Amino acid sequence: MSQTVPNLLPFVELPILFKPLALDQQPLDIQQKIAQINEVLPQTQCGLCDHPDGCLPYAAAIVINGEPHNKCVPGGQPVTDTIGQIVQTNNPPLIAAKSNWETDAITGRPQEMRAIIREADCIGCTKCIPACPVDAIIGTGKHMHTIFTELCTGCELCIAPCPVDCIDLVPISRQISADIRQIEQHDLQSRYYHHLNRVADSLTDSRHAKPVVSMMEAKINNVAAQSLDISEADAKSTIAAAKLRTKIKKLEKQLSVRPNAQKQSELTALQAELAALV
Ligand code: SF4
Ligand code: SF4
Ligand code: SF4
Repeated sequence: MSQTVPNLLPFVELPILFKPLALDQQPLDIQQKIAQINEVLPQTQCGLCDHPDGCLPYAAAIVINGEPHNKCVPGGQPVTDTIGQIVQTNNPPLIAAKSNWETDAITGRPQEMRAIIREADCIGCTKCIPACPVDAIIGTGKHMHTIFTELCTGCELCIAPCPVDCIDLVPISRQISADIRQIEQHDLQSRYYHHLNRVADSLTDSRHAKPVVSMMEAKINNVAAQSLDISEADAKSTIAAAKLRTKIKKLEKQLSVRPNAQKQSELTALQAELAALV
């Protein structure tokens, strides 16, 4: 009878960001173990396990590189123990990595938090939007932003990019069944993969070329360049074009507020430079 990889992880259909992991080329039993561990991880995609690209790379590192299985901070001791059963090491049980938040007496996991924006202080700079792995923030340039609390995982990734420090974390209290937790995790995973696919699409859509603004966009850009097997010179041009687009966008913004002859000629020169590159 043929074996199948459990769960939702057909490793052939992952976002391009995960291509370097080459999970679909791993032996089936390894793939199964990675999928099993990923199924247990909270899918917060917070990077606190030292894997900024999220839960799946951490699951892969546990199985392939033998990385310690106690590094998922939001998962706490319950997740560490469950992964311990999956990897079946002979070592003594590991203590889960410590969270900044108190342990919830009922779940045994760290206190759950949610982000909220102090809307009166928000300057609408949009910097928090690309930082959110589950697309829980809405808003447009120069307008107040807000967070869909029910979608927020409290991953804290939007806090550092905010230039005016107007995002706070607040504790939430809830008890959910294991089934509901699983459904939530699947939903978060699919929101994250959708987010990654959307970022990749926006970067490769030549009709709507946009500057690379976030770390995630830069990484996806690099992976895309590598997977297209373009030459080093082409890769350098891609990066140079991205930089030019960023400068052009900045100048266009400035000029839309106040005309300036010198900036206008700078913009024309940059546009010509970009046209010569692409
Ligand atoms: S939820 Fe856990 S496994 Fe996922 S990125 Fe955060 S720390 Fe890593
Ligand atoms: S709104 Fe902030 S804390 Fe909430 S999921 Fe998005 S990035 Fe994380
Ligand atoms: S980063 Fe801060 S100021 Fe900028 S849009 Fe987001 S919440 Fe508002």
